[in-house]
Amino acid sequence: MAEKCDFFILGGGIAGLSAALAASQYGRVILLTKGKIGETATEKAQGGIAAAIDQIRDSTQFHFEDTIAGGAGLCDEAAVKVLVTEGVDRVKELIEMGAQFDRAETEAGGTAFALTLEGAHKRRRILHAGDETGREIEKTLGRRVVAEGKVEILQQMMGIDLLVENAQCIGASALNQQTNQQTNFLARSTLLATGGVCQVYLHTTNPEFATGDGVAMAYRAGAEVTDVEFVQFHPTALVQIKGFEDIVALPRFLISEAVRGEGGILLNNKNERFGDELAPRDIVARSIVEEMKKTGEDHVFLSLKQIAPEKIKQRFPMIYKTCLERGLDITKDNIPVAPAAHYFMGGIKTDINGRTNIDGLYAAGECAATGVHGANRLASNSLLEGLVFGHRAALAARSEFSESSPTPHTPSPIPAKPRLKDVEVQRYKLVIKSALWQGTGIIRSKENLEETFAELEKVERQVDFPAVSMEELELKNMLLVAKLITRAALDRTESRGAHYRADFPKKDDINWKNHLVYKLGVNS
Ligand SMILES: Cc1cc2nc3c(=O)[nH]c(=O)nc-3n(C[C@H](O)[C@H](O)[C@H](O)COP(=O)(O)OP(=O)(O)OC[C@H]3O[C@@H](n4cnc5c(N)ncnc54)[C@H](O)[C@@H]3O)c2cc1C
Repeated sequence: MAEKCDFFILGGGIAGLSAALAASQYGRVILLTKGKIGETATEKAQGGIAAAIDQIRDSTQFHFEDTIAGGAGLCDEAAVKVLVTEGVDRVKELIEMGAQFDRAETEAGGTAFALTLEGAHKRRRILHAGDETGREIEKTLGRRVVAEGKVEILQQMMGIDLLVENAQCIGASALNQQTNQQTNFLARSTLLATGGVCQVYLHTTNPEFATGDGVAMAYRAGAEVTDVEFVQFHPTALVQIKGFEDIVALPRFLISEAVRGEGGILLNNKNERFGDELAPRDIVARSIVEEMKKTGEDHVFLSLKQIAPEKIKQRFPMIYKTCLERGLDITKDNIPVAPAAHYFMGGIKTDINGRTNIDGLYAAGECAATGVHGANRLASNSLLEGLVFGHRAALAARSEFSESSPTPHTPSPIPAKPRLKDVEVQRYKLVIKSALWQGTGIIRSKENLEETFAELEKVERQVDFPAVSMEELELKNMLLVAKLITRAALDRTESRGAHYRADFPKKDDINWKNHLVYKLGVNS
């Protein structure tokens, strides 16, 4: 089967929807989502979206400076400039579309956006909608896409591989998860907006679909990937309790940084306070790991006793409710927390228009590396990145449409039956996730990284056959992405941003103020 369109978008999070809205003005758009529409990391975002909309106390220049400082020497200045300036316009458009961000009373008696502060932002510039900011954004964009009626959304369709002919991307193949049928989507431009990769780690805040499919598809097709050693670990994810312990893929529920911003403190199992709760995420995460090592426990505690119960319920209603469902009243009980893999700074290398090195192929959102985050992302800059660069990628694609429309392409036959039972796939996934967590985690060293790499190669030898089912395809994608992250973490013999090597604990600007770029057949 083959389908034709002008714009083919894989992913229905903030980046995919932002692109779809812009693209729908110019041609036929088909948008695929692996899960159901709305099941995205975007929808899970709690804290907020950063934008210098307060032009009196803040400015795009201040936002630029904070972002550059956070990136530990590796941000692309041109990309950051685009992020902070166009970000203000895109956020204003979101508000015009009806996004309801929290407001507070002003001294003059009116109301203004209740902008909050988060780690490493020196000015109040985070717009939020309670602790469900992402849901509000996803809902607003989704509603607009549906109202315009110009985008065909196909759910539970998993992108398998990109179709490349004569060095030009002409679409992608996809698997319908209900019928198990494969379809080739032929397009004048293809955008990968498939989100993050952190399901390659045992402990993660990322949704179950975040298996790095877009990054793996792009790499297999010859796209460059970069900065893949930079994975951000969030310090405070809820350690599973009450019957949730055995579900390996279940994402750890995030306890937003804003909770520490409002006065939450970290305690070890002797009830002693440790670390600086508002230091950058990598520092807080490492201090928690050190504390857990000392005590032998798998968690520390976050205490909110300093915050008035009414304020907790009003400012963090979703966190309060979710913890309550899992047996914890956070107005009274300490919360067991530990770090978890949270955000992928690296990804498919793009320019400031979302272009990759393959004609006709674009990437935006968490699967892309535009250079805005450098070695460490500032909180609330990732939603903004998806919003801004999804839009830009659609406009660039429009202006670069290939003249000829792609010719029909016969799908490559795929074997009818998967080789692995689901339980076997789960077992292999667990091996990958555990190996990454052990060796390519928060604190890395040559020895551990090499062990992890060897473990991944072992799995690779065991699953050396064509993947057929969604589960098998995910397994292969996870394996590829896990190897890329581990390879890059081994190669970068210094510590910078979120990448920490115990055997090279210092930043080395002389040798390492640069990006590692990987491409199939070149350095692999
Ligand atoms: C718990 C949590 C809290 C967060 N809080 C914040 C915050 O407060 N502020 C902030 O800025 N950032 C936050 N982030 C990060 C931010 O949410 C993500 O970086 C951002 O939403 C990514 O958007 P995206 O459009 O790139 O991908 P996503 O929103 O993850 O969407 C990805 C889409 O791709 C689809 N997809 C995946 N693989 C395939 C495939 N093979 N074929 C077809 N479709 C596919 C999925 O079905 C989905 O529709 C948070 C992340 C998490 C997990």
